[in-house]
Amino acid sequence: MSTFVDVALPAAVRKQFTYHVPKELMASVQPGQRVWIPFRNYYAIGVIIGVHNQTPSFKTKPLRKILDEEPLLSQELLKLTKWISRFYYSSWGETIQAALPAGLNFVSRKYLKVSESVDDTGLREDQKEIVEDLRQSDTTLNEAKKRYKGTGLNKVFSNLLKKKIIEIWEEPDLKVTVATEREWIWAEGRTEESVQKFLESENANNDLKWVEALAHIAERIPLRQSEISEDSVLTSYTLKKLRDEDWITYQDVEKNTEIDHLSHEPESIKTLNEDQEKAFKKIGESLTKEEFANYLLFGITGSGKTEVYIHALKQVVENGKGGIVLVPEIALTPQTVSRFYRIFGDQIAVLHSRMTNRERLQAWKDLNSGKKSIAIGPRSAVFAPVQNLGLIILDEEHDSSYKQMDPAPRYHARETAIVRARENNAVVIMGSATPSMQALNMAAKGKCEMLELTKRHAEAKLPEVEVLDLKQYRGAMRGELAVPLFMAMEEALKKGEQIILLYNRRGYASYLQCEDCGHIPQSPECSVSLTYHKRKNLLMCHYSGYSRRADTKCEHCGSPNLKVQGSGTQNIEEQLGDLFPEAKVIRFDRDSTSRKGAHEQILNTFGEGKADILIGTQLVAKGLDFPNVTVVGVIDTDTELAFPSFQATERMYQLLSQVSGRSGRGEKAGTVFLQSRQPENPAIQFAKKHDHRGFARQEMEFRKPLNYPPYSRLIRFELKSVKEQEVSQAAHQLTSSVGRVVPELAVLGPSPGAIPWMNKKYIWEVTLKIDPEKGAGYIEAVVEKIMEVYDAETKGRFSSVRVNVNVDAIQ
Ligand code: ADP
Ligand code: ZN
Repeated sequence: MSTFVDVALPAAVRKQFTYHVPKELMASVQPGQRVWIPFRNYYAIGVIIGVHNQTPSFKTKPLRKILDEEPLLSQELLKLTKWISRFYYSSWGETIQAALPAGLNFVSRKYLKVSESVDDTGLREDQKEIVEDLRQSDTTLNEAKKRYKGTGLNKVFSNLLKKKIIEIWEEPDLKVTVATEREWIWAEGRTEESVQKFLESENANNDLKWVEALAHIAERIPLRQSEISEDSVLTSYTLKKLRDEDWITYQDVEKNTEIDHLSHEPESIKTLNEDQEKAFKKIGESLTKEEFANYLLFGITGSGKTEVYIHALKQVVENGKGGIVLVPEIALTPQTVSRFYRIFGDQIAVLHSRMTNRERLQAWKDLNSGKKSIAIGPRSAVFAPVQNLGLIILDEEHDSSYKQMDPAPRYHARETAIVRARENNAVVIMGSATPSMQALNMAAKGKCEMLELTKRHAEAKLPEVEVLDLKQYRGAMRGELAVPLFMAMEEALKKGEQIILLYNRRGYASYLQCEDCGHIPQSPECSVSLTYHKRKNLLMCHYSGYSRRADTKCEHCGSPNLKVQGSGTQNIEEQLGDLFPEAKVIRFDRDSTSRKGAHEQILNTFGEGKADILIGTQLVAKGLDFPNVTVVGVIDTDTELAFPSFQATERMYQLLSQVSGRSGRGEKAGTVFLQSRQPENPAIQFAKKHDHRGFARQEMEFRKPLNYPPYSRLIRFELKSVKEQEVSQAAHQLTSSVGRVVPELAVLGPSPGAIPWMNKKYIWEVTLKIDPEKGAGYIEAVVEKIMEVYDAETKGRFSSVRVNVNVDAIQ
């Protein structure tokens, strides 16, 4: 019996609220349930995070209702969300909300009711009209506002509200919009037997349409509407007739929401090759011991990492446990997902980013009840309520989509997965062909064990990579293609082989580049590219705040030929149409894939050989496996490098390696062409040699003296406001607060954000470097103290400024 509950709200308040529990509810309260609580002047939905008998020092209000019979979150997930709220400095309530499927609402609705003390005789005619309206049916405040808006009753309505003749009352809204359909069943008193008897009797004239229909439906009842859409006998006419004659009736049932746009014929599991077997053996031992272990599966593209995942997952499932497979973005990896489907079929619940709320909730329930044991999904699937969790796989561990940037909780799925696995004595496999510096650092420190796959499966070889120096080809271009790439494409098309082109445009960060030597101006303090701000004609470093007037001559070679790069889109697809009139070109980017299922469609078209050239943004770099692709081209590698971030080189390297990995996956050898004005850049040179270790060594050497991650952890304070002055002043104030609270730590900034003005708000940043070994307790304490001091020192002077905290921010 608990007399008090602590409740978290799904809002940005990092505070808990205590309520007392009415007697009749005391036996039912449990952590993880949603509850209906009085809050300020109204009510709110919160989640119980603790139950206890300690009387607080203040007067408590009573809890009103318990909204879930069973807790929505297990103790394990409550604990995980708590850890996130401390480590990533979010509120516990908003973290819990992020961990639950969108269909589980935290919203309430305001309804109207006519006050019971109202005496109708005292009302005017127009007032009566409204009062009677509201008595007749439940009406929400919004509905009523809409109904009377623009009519003569609008004023009358507001008046009734003011006089409290109409009162507002609030209710939790737990409804999930459910998609239903008709299911045909026997009408009352009819049974299959009695109908059969009738059909065999002389009364049943087979020439009549409805009798034929009855015979038809008798074998299939209960029958869903969706199953008879094109039936020539069971038409809307005959069905209506049967219903009118009281043979059948219908009920509304929930629509089946299985996602089956991924083709997945069952397949048996492959035998592992020697390398794979060696890696799997290690993982298998940990799985058998049911002890926490963390593996970094470092395998080149096409080496068969996915087969290792499948074997590990199989062992887990056979032991009656469950697993989570995280992929960067499910819509981009239909091929990977369908490989899991072919082996595990119905055991899988996919958490698709384009699912309806209803579908999402169903998948969540299937996992929660143990009906399904494997969850596949992007970042947020790390919260999947898999029962008896034995394994978490992070495919493409280095992918930046694993970090949530906005809104809070700004968590990273990799760190979260590790914490969750540890709590469950489960195993983590982080797989990548280009492991992140974080993962490599973990391996170096013994925090995870590296397993390597160094060869492509069977005879497939890594492709040859040619770097094309755009400076040299200035006179030998076909549109955006240097002649060697153009010729290779012609050749491939002649042989009926396929081509993938990557055309990456981040679009928002402009930079200056020298057309003669390829030089891009760098920040003198931070080794990142300077962003070009056209309006002010400034070059700015968004790390340190350094800025200077834009150059008129190249600081490197003195050439006056400086060009603004990185913004505006060019219609490369059209250009290809002119260059290769015979070839079929398809585009794969955010615009072409916004429809549900469009990804799969485009990829299927390409996979079936119905298109010759696939052109796209970095989406084309991820995980595609098309054996007929022999030429891969990157049209402009420089855009990525110019992004003002210490991680730009790493991301560039990853992108080039990943996209190169799409070439020559089958029996035919492949070639990759990288077009660049900076061919000597290490990211390009190491990608050319497929030398990730070499690249990582150099990258770490660059980061160490600057104390960038993984040698430190960055905590970024992001300040936003519509007022340019206020946000910059607030950022300076915050910087001095930081200096007072943790004078021993290095601070970057204050400086304008990489994108200094977004959604009509000015953005400033202050970044703190902390010891990467410090845990959630330290981070929470430090940030809390900084915010306290900042609040005390600003005393609400910068009320327009909102401060977000982003731990482990990725640029
Ligand atoms: P990765 O995930 O490392 O990029 P994949 O798992 O996609 O590599 O493997 C590349 C190709 O090799 C796939 O078509 C896969 O089916 C095939 N393959 C990998 N391992 C085996 C194996 N042991 N037996 C048969 N085919 C395999
Ligand atoms: Zn130059």
